[in-house]
Amino acid sequence: MPDRTPVLLDHGYDEAKKPSEWTATDYGSAAEFRGGQVLTQDMAPGQFTKPIEWRCAFGHAFDASPRLVLTAGHWCPACLADPASYSDQAARNPFLAQLIQAAEQPVHTAAASASAAGPSQPKP
Ligand SMILES: [Zn+2]
Repeated sequence: MPDRTPVLLDHGYDEAKKPSEWTATDYGSAAEFRGGQVLTQDMAPGQFTKPIEWRCAFGHAFDASPRLVLTAGHWCPACLADPASYSDQAARNPFLAQLIQAAEQPVHTAAASASAAGPSQPKP
């Protein structure tokens, strides 16, 4: 059996589901994975582009469609506007912690490989 393609980011819900199959449970688990919750109680199935109300780990309420949150990585605009507190936010938001960790991975650049090989010195 071949290995499955590694998933780089966990979005906190069953990504095998189509958006039209998402339910309040998927929205709830995605919100929970970000340290927050869904405030809207009554939502029709399949209405994934219609904004609903969410609350982040810091108590900010905001509107966003499930599609924005689950597939586009959208989350609390008030927290997003406060980069100085990203490490505090990451302590309560596993999804953000994952993004920060990914951003801090060392990157191997072409320039780094070139300098490791050393400059080419033509012999006299
Ligand atoms: Zn917030």
